[in-house]
Amino acid sequence: MNKTFIMLKPDAMKRGLEQEIIKHFTDDGMTIEKSNHVLVNEELILNHYKEVIEKVTIVGFKERLLREFVGETVAIYVLSGTEGIIERVRELVGPTEPVKADKHTIRGKYSQDSYALAADEDRPVRNLIHASDSPESVIKETSLWFD
Ligand code: GDP
Repeated sequence: MNKTFIMLKPDAMKRGLEQEIIKHFTDDGMTIEKSNHVLVNEELILNHYKEVIEKVTIVGFKERLLREFVGETVAIYVLSGTEGIIERVRELVGPTEPVKADKHTIRGKYSQDSYALAADEDRPVRNLIHASDSPESVIKETSLWFD
């Protein structure tokens, strides 16, 4: 697999960070295969986060995701490059909780958010970007968001 799927979440879009974040990937030698802006509805986001909703045990997590995403615009991209692009993109993105992310990663550079602050404000952690974590996710997420 030499392709991956990413989504710039509403926090990145509202802060006007789309082009700046995408530059991290193109500067790393990746090519934009396709991209689009999508207005998110409930069905899309519940489908996208189906496994995460089943995994995360935080009370009200699903409702927080719905509040964060439904009615908001996200940017979706398919990036292509060399073998290992899925792992390379996730390396550039950094770990889920921005406060734990290295300053050289996208999440660490542009966000200081934490699980604790997110819980206080009754919302999901704002970490700017989603990146597929396996070839199966790339296929599922690309067809979900582009078709
Ligand atoms: P990712 O691959 O790093 O985005 O992490 P996951 O796919 O496991 O989780 C998807 C999204 O759900 C994350 O990007 C967070 O926005 C949110 N999330 C996951 N786990 C937690 C958690 O333990 N606490 C909070 N507040 N949000 C979480």
